[in-house]
Amino acid sequence: MKIGIVGCAGRMGQMLIKEVLGNPRATLIGATEAPNSTVLGHDPGLLAGGVATDLKITEDAKTLFANADAVIDFTAPKVTLMHAKLAADNFTALIVGTTGFEPDQQTQLEAFGANAFIFQAANFSVGVNLLMGLSEQVGSLLGNDYDAEILEMHHKNKVDAPSGTALALGKAVAKGRGVDLDAVSKRVRDGITGARTPGDIGFATLRGGAVIGDHTVMFAADGERVELTHKASDRTIYSAGAVRAAIWSQSQGNGFFGMRHMLGFN
Ligand code: NAD
Repeated sequence: MKIGIVGCAGRMGQMLIKEVLGNPRATLIGATEAPNSTVLGHDPGLLAGGVATDLKITEDAKTLFANADAVIDFTAPKVTLMHAKLAADNFTALIVGTTGFEPDQQTQLEAFGANAFIFQAANFSVGVNLLMGLSEQVGSLLGNDYDAEILEMHHKNKVDAPSGTALALGKAVAKGRGVDLDAVSKRVRDGITGARTPGDIGFATLRGGAVIGDHTVMFAADGERVELTHKASDRTIYSAGAVRAAIWSQSQGNGFFGMRHMLGFN
């Protein structure tokens, strides 16, 4: 399977290059970076700390999409939407790990699923997807008697907040409760906020150091607290999941897919 990586010099881009180079079912056929990047012309394998390839990093996403069976994209929302158009034009599968889409950008991304295989996951780890299923179940079992709060921590360079995973966990709790997250989410608290509104789903964001990704879904009642926690300690959990999705695309048609389709979680 011919796989291309966009944003290959990024934290995740480099992990993805190594993952593809180490997977016997995949061949790396190209890698791109932003037009102003200093790594253009470099070998993506060496840049990622892996083996040398006969490839050079370019800014030419058009050629990459024309040649690849699947492209993996962990960049930024605007960039990913540009790539989704190329995926649809070239019938190339697109695996999206980018987070931070505004609602209208999310709608645009999903619409490309009519003409291409688009797979999006706010988090490619199996453990986090299990946590989502559990959060939905617990949300449904405990209902509004237990206050739901979602706490996340990431490294100091993360640009969006709350994390896409925290929002997806909030959505899972809301789904379990049979409500719409947008109607009950409390994404920021500051100053004299007044008492907590029953039924709210709150978010708290921590940033610092090199933390890869910690998430806790908390259900707090007067006399007890239930906490479901996931801690990522290695970015390979994300890159392995994304390459698995790229390989899985070969057995699928066009459409908009996520982890629950690939893993068979309901
Ligand atoms: P990063 O900033 O290290 O990497 C992004 C890369 O994209 C940079 O190297 C940047 O130069 C490149 N880029 C920007 N414009 C480009 C263009 N036009 N063409 C090609 N490349 C371009 O960020 P990161 O930590 O690797 O995270 C990237 C995204 O992935 C974020 O949205 C993050 O939240 C998300 N993420 C998702 C998961 C998941 O499992 N879904 C896991 C980790 C990170």
